[in-house]
Amino acid sequence: MSVVLGMPQPRPAAGSSRASAPRGVRPAVALPAERPAASGLVDRFGREATDLRISLTDRCNLRCTYCMPAEGLPFLAPPALMSLEEITRFARIAVTDFGVRQVRFTGGEPLLRKDLVEIIRSVAALEPRPEISLTTNAIGLTSRATALADAGLDRINVSLDSIHPETFAKITRRPFLDRVLSGIDAVRAAGLKSTKINAVLMPGINDHQAVELLEWALAGGHQLRFIEQMPLDADHTWERESMITAAQIRERLAVRYLLTPDDAPRDGAPAELFQVREQADGPDGSVLGLVGIIASVSEPFCADCRRTRLTAEGAVRSCLFSHTETDLLGPLRAGADDAELADLWRGAMWAKPSGHRMNEAGFAQPDRPMSAIGG
Ligand code: SAM
Ligand code: SF4
Repeated sequence: MSVVLGMPQPRPAAGSSRASAPRGVRPAVALPAERPAASGLVDRFGREATDLRISLTDRCNLRCTYCMPAEGLPFLAPPALMSLEEITRFARIAVTDFGVRQVRFTGGEPLLRKDLVEIIRSVAALEPRPEISLTTNAIGLTSRATALADAGLDRINVSLDSIHPETFAKITRRPFLDRVLSGIDAVRAAGLKSTKINAVLMPGINDHQAVELLEWALAGGHQLRFIEQMPLDADHTWERESMITAAQIRERLAVRYLLTPDDAPRDGAPAELFQVREQADGPDGSVLGLVGIIASVSEPFCADCRRTRLTAEGAVRSCLFSHTETDLLGPLRAGADDAELADLWRGAMWAKPSGHRMNEAGFAQPDRPMSAIGG
């Protein structure tokens, strides 16, 4: 049976094999019993992916403790990576066949791709043009920001966990804070929309710097987003007991700032946004800016996930915490046409789990660390 999404469908009878919706999912349409033959990237729980993350490489020039081991990892050989043409083809299928509206390049460190400007230009030429963004550690951004903006890059997220050189070096295992700060300045000079800053807090390392980091971001007009540390480190050292939760982040910020939930619709965004005021000014004080908190562990937002991911070697991962992947690059290189590739991708999305299950007994961390998935 094929079912058209958007058409009313009968509710399943008790005992039916149809999957039940995860907690919090209220599908706007009745759930189809089978995967529709042609549709956007929909799953069994009524979600539709409109946001594509593409990892461009698994290599990186930093070694953040929550992501990579000090000695690095066995990296992919260059021929195993998707080429400019292959990336463009997958992005075209996503945009034209699935209605994907946002494409984010990530890694590893995407600035390590020498052809990054060409990749962005090529994806910016797609019709309809998706919004294009980049998540980067900003090493090497200083000399490339203008070229990236000219090629069609719309937004940049820079990862920065501390503005103290010693703390930065301790977390990233590299003494490159000045390069990151210079990269952030270059983004502004290139005329790109305001930079978002991603920060992971770790107890005893940088959690006591949360207020200072926010003060710095507000002064520079950047939107800071704190991300809860997830069990995606290559060393498998993550411990729930020692991670800084969203509630603890709010507590640390409350020492100086008053946070009020922002009214704007979240619209599938991972970050919960808060308006920031000085505690001393009270609720009628002027809003200094916004801060985001991405509570992937303690307050999961899987029910509203709109993401699909391609690893650097062209495999679909429907969830960061998947233990399975669907290879698209092998079939592409073997001569599959767009319709066959789209069908494989739809199949991978249909199998997307309801949530990461991190808070359930028996959760197992995926083998791949964040750098090899594409965060
Ligand atoms: N190298 C680029 C960077 O650092 O921005 C892009 C790739 S990195 C994997 C993407 C994002 O994932 C970064 O903001 C980083 O802080 C975040 N990240 C990496 N490992 C993480 C973890 N274990 N938990 C939470 N966030 C993590
Ligand atoms: Fe590299 Fe980004 Fe991972 Fe840090 S978080 S090691 S910058 S991929």
